[in-house]
Amino acid sequence: MRCRLTLLMLIFLNFCLISTSSAQKEEKYSIKTIVIDAGHGGKDDGASGKKVKEKEIVLAIALKLGTYIEENLPDVKVIYTRTKDVFVPLDERADIANKNKADLFISIHCNGNKNPNAYGTETYAMGLHKTDGNFEVAKMENSAILFEEDYSTKYEGFDPNSAESYIIFSFLQNTFIEQSLNYASFVETEFATRALRKSRGVKQAGFLVLWKTTMPSVLVEVGFLTNPQEERYLISSEGQEYIASAIYRAFKNYKSTIEEKSMFVTKLNTDLKYETIVSSYDSVNTTNYSESDIFFKVQIASSTNSIPSDSEFFKGFENIEEYKFDQYYKYTVGSTSSFEKIVDYKKIVEEKFPDAFIIAVDQNKNLIPINEAINKINK
Ligand SMILES: [Zn+2]
Repeated sequence: MRCRLTLLMLIFLNFCLISTSSAQKEEKYSIKTIVIDAGHGGKDDGASGKKVKEKEIVLAIALKLGTYIEENLPDVKVIYTRTKDVFVPLDERADIANKNKADLFISIHCNGNKNPNAYGTETYAMGLHKTDGNFEVAKMENSAILFEEDYSTKYEGFDPNSAESYIIFSFLQNTFIEQSLNYASFVETEFATRALRKSRGVKQAGFLVLWKTTMPSVLVEVGFLTNPQEERYLISSEGQEYIASAIYRAFKNYKSTIEEKSMFVTKLNTDLKYETIVSSYDSVNTTNYSESDIFFKVQIASSTNSIPSDSEFFKGFENIEEYKFDQYYKYTVGSTSSFEKIVDYKKIVEEKFPDAFIIAVDQNKNLIPINEAINKINK
């Protein structure tokens, strides 16, 4: 017993040291890397207009966007998934962003529709489509995988044209959905107010190219190539410059918003009591995990700095836990092996944190996909 107590004290002390040093070293979060993805390319033309192919227009806009960022925001590193007319598989595009630890991923596309009158811009974040129109766009963009020979194994049997395949996106646990939607709305606002395009709004659908990215990510449909008037606009260098500069300004606004928020959290951190953090870690370690191997929790926030568990922020919630993941601290509340119970709990949590979402972890606190967790529990 005494030995255990000493061990606990040592762990306690250790956490104190880690917390102190990491808090002192913590730098203000800033957006350093952006990945710009020109859709399609090579054997994959994408949508077609009367005169041009999607792959040509989106590459021109992507390169213009990258140039604006390099010229005006020299502290941001720009990485392209392609700078030429080459075919790049969808999963490789996400890999490029993940490997480079990008802070934002922007995939640029042109829309197409059977109705030649359809026109305007749409910006998508990952999610399950709510309308047939959004589903059609996802199907069209995802069918790019049909150009990949091994698509069936690579995308776990995903069939871009089968509605059933899209069910996986309803269990999505994208930590960055809030930031993705935030950036998407900056883009659509710029399109409508400065580029004077018709904004069809911010939307969600299951895009494979965004699926495995580990940062905020959006897919921008810059206009319809199937609408002759819009095609002419998108072919013109003036049109391309308007579109690229709108996406650029949206990025600049998003960047300063995110960095200001991070400053606020840094400020909060100066009042931090290290003992409090330690006790919250301690409670994590001693939680009784005997019921089952899988726990559902509701994630309410992620922050670049640690937030003390006695902060006003957490008031009224149970089982507050902190996880460190990359440069982020993630906070969850609630903990149960029943999916039904956590769904009910999430409804309560949503009153204070509308963007809260459910996560599943195993007893070693490893994140596991929700659908996998449900399957395991049902067995
Ligand atoms: Zn496309």
